Amino acid sequence: MPRKAKTVEERFHKKYVVDEETGCWNWTDSLKPSGYGYLTVGNDSRFPETANHRHGANRVSWILHNGAIPEDMWVCLDCDNKACVNPNHLFLATKEERMLIKSQRLRNSQTQFNDQEVEIIRNSKLSNARLAKMLGVTTQNTRHLRQGYTYRNV
Ligand SMILES: [Zn+2]
Repeated sequence: MPRKAKTVEERFHKKYVVDEETGCWNWTDSLKPSGYGYLTVGNDSRFPETANHRHGANRVSWILHNGAIPEDMWVCLDCDNKACVNPNHLFLATKEERMLIKSQRLRNSQTQFNDQEVEIIRNSKLSNARLAKMLGVTTQNTRHLRQGYTYRNV
């Protein structure tokens, strides 16, 4: 009798180790040069076709735990640990939100958002707490910015 092919779930859950301290699920299988894990997925309708059947490990984690990723949304990491695939450390962001988070991380402590960035923050569907954490500011900063107490001119 032919051996039943392992499901994506079965394969996924064998390919990480849990870091008890951080809660991160560290991918132990293939990593891209960028540091992100990936998994080769065969025929499974939950996963969109890709040329080489490879899918980013955190995208696989998102799809297995939350379902399809809406078009134009990016899977981002709360913990900033590229190898992590813990669904609780993942969230979806738009391209603009993702770029803002990236550029904010490259800056030094002084936080002054430009007009375009203020717009992105005000239009974001992410929670104040999430945004604040990702941008390295306080929740109050984010709330006041969104309510228009700060950056009044924008
Ligand atoms: Zn993590």
